[in-house]
Amino acid sequence: MDSEYKSRSGTSYSSVRRRIANSVANTMQLLHVPVEDTRECGTSPEVFDTTSDNDIMPEYVRMDFQPTTDANVRFGFGDDGEDDNDEVSLCSYSDNCYSSSDSDVDDQHESEKPPLCVQLAQWAVHYSVTDTALGKLLSILKPHHSSLPIDPRTLKKTPTTYDIKEVVCLDGKIGHYSYFGIQCGLVDLLQQQNVYEGTTLVLQFNFDGLPVFKSSSVELWPVLCLARQLSHRPFVVGLYCGSKKPASLSEYLEDFVQELSSLLVEGIWYGDIKLNVEIGCFVCDAPARAFIKNVKSHTAYYGCEKCKQKGVHIDYKMTFPKMDGKLRTDKEFSLMSDEAHHHGPSPLAVLPVGLVTCFVLDYMHLVCLGVCRRLLAFWLRGPIHKDSTSKASRLSAGAVRQLSSKLVNLRNSVSSEFARKPRCISELDRWKATEFRQLLLYTGPVVLSGVLSDAVYNHFLLLSVGITLLVSPKFCGPYADYAHSLLCLFVEQAKHIYGEDFIVYNVHGLTHLAADVKQHGCLDLVSAFPYENKLQELKKLVRKRSCPLPQIIRRLSEKRTAFSELGVVSVDRILCEREHTDGPVPHGYSDAVQYAQLNAKTYKINIKRSADCCVLVRNIGPVKAVNILSHCSAVYIVYRRFEKVLDLFESPLSSSCLEIYKVCGCMPTLSTCPFDDVLSKCLLLPLSAKSDANNTKSLYAALPIVHTLVDERA
Ligand SMILES: [Zn+2]
Repeated sequence: MDSEYKSRSGTSYSSVRRRIANSVANTMQLLHVPVEDTRECGTSPEVFDTTSDNDIMPEYVRMDFQPTTDANVRFGFGDDGEDDNDEVSLCSYSDNCYSSSDSDVDDQHESEKPPLCVQLAQWAVHYSVTDTALGKLLSILKPHHSSLPIDPRTLKKTPTTYDIKEVVCLDGKIGHYSYFGIQCGLVDLLQQQNVYEGTTLVLQFNFDGLPVFKSSSVELWPVLCLARQLSHRPFVVGLYCGSKKPASLSEYLEDFVQELSSLLVEGIWYGDIKLNVEIGCFVCDAPARAFIKNVKSHTAYYGCEKCKQKGVHIDYKMTFPKMDGKLRTDKEFSLMSDEAHHHGPSPLAVLPVGLVTCFVLDYMHLVCLGVCRRLLAFWLRGPIHKDSTSKASRLSAGAVRQLSSKLVNLRNSVSSEFARKPRCISELDRWKATEFRQLLLYTGPVVLSGVLSDAVYNHFLLLSVGITLLVSPKFCGPYADYAHSLLCLFVEQAKHIYGEDFIVYNVHGLTHLAADVKQHGCLDLVSAFPYENKLQELKKLVRKRSCPLPQIIRRLSEKRTAFSELGVVSVDRILCEREHTDGPVPHGYSDAVQYAQLNAKTYKINIKRSADCCVLVRNIGPVKAVNILSHCSAVYIVYRRFEKVLDLFESPLSSSCLEIYKVCGCMPTLSTCPFDDVLSKCLLLPLSAKSDANNTKSLYAALPIVHTLVDERA
């Protein structure tokens, strides 16, 4: 058993590369692509480097993973407070929120707390307390604290005038627009940093439309900016609100384009330091991309933004069957040479960026909400009268029940990084993007085995593995070409399994994903997940139906004022907590302090909870953490190896190449490693209903939680 373990998890990086290269060769043969060229591309980091115009993001991705190196039990940490919007993101922390749920931290900073009026304002803003309730509270407190104002608007310094301009909506009615500015948001973020040592800020932008109310057509079109070097959360640059989207794209983008053009030339000054500004990319869903670029929609014949092929109408759907369509170039776009693609010039054309290569295909919309949802819809409600092959993809009622039951059985095994537990397939229409991601990257390979036919299951794995490679900060660089070949094979085979009409825009878009990753970095660096959180946050700021835009402006201003009163607050975040004396403690660590929980930046290890104790250790593989020790100013993980470590699946490549394993049993021997050697946390999912925490001989799947790694490294 031990030798079997070594043969899997002890595999050297070069032999993993060889195995992947062999798998690439096999895949290429299926695709009829010359093997030699692709193998060279797939394993050559140089290709990844030279295809990029922007050396910031790929450099970031190429870095070896360095877990938190701070050896102290506590470390300074400005971001605190869990994200309360669990719909799409799980592990981001509030950027400028003065709050801590930890009593030790509160005690430590008791003497540094701001005045009562500032604390009250922050509390009211953070919990969205209504003015009526806050006014009542102030009237109760006023006799005891004479310095407090009686009016909640005075306490929160609510602005009474706003800079709003009128713009015409698409339906001819009047909408409203307010511009806050890019520089203003960046300066706010810089003020929250203790030190920023970089010289260049690379910015991402998002445009999107969302309905404000369920029962009316009022739409918000925010412009959001994300400066990843400063924060994982986007800030608002501008806000439009109207009965339809803006009639004039130039009017909507005028302030934005003007300021951004100036920043690209002038940079921004922070104190006496000049910072250069660069555009990373634009991250939007397909309708917003078409709107902002002023091109045909994704349902039009020439709707693909990356290639020039003419779509084919099948059953009232636009499909894009070719995988070798001639690629669009930035230069052709700027010349508008393909008239069938453009509605007219885009106001963004004056910016020095490529409007083809810098508008990424966002995988949250394209893959999670697009392809993954479409697959499930075909399995549940797909056509059954086409031909014998399409029948094979639709599940029987019994298989659907089995799938639901398997998903629900995983609820207690899902780790604390996931805000949503797996739920019944019957609730599919209410699934959020994170739930599709959970199925695609983690639970799918486990629960779909035995439910789908072998052919359909292996076809699903092409998508799952391809996207896992592109999500992984470690694998996306060297294996982008291999991932591309897997996704192309997925699209090609999908025609035969699900029919020609399956290859709609989203599915076809898979063939263009790897090119974006090569230029901009792994998928989570350019996904809409953080923006979607922000959009939902903005929507929640609207309390009354009348004048939504001024309401949002007031709330944003109150928040900014309340937290800037305090300046930078560096709350010591607890690295290790829940001290205990229960052991086990290996020889040589008898004077160490024992803890039950370790809080890394984007995940936590909890030895008392079976769903939160599996981690991937450098050069070892998946292990079960059984204790956390603080010893000689360093933190160590005490762990037990698994008795058996096997591949979870063999196709399209051995899952161990992705550090995904099937594991069983725990060895009695204790081992120890520095926390620095923990590469990631793993999900530990039972492979049969009989598996449970007490039955150590049951089989489990151990899968690294890859989608959190990009922020862990930041
Ligand atoms: Zn295309």
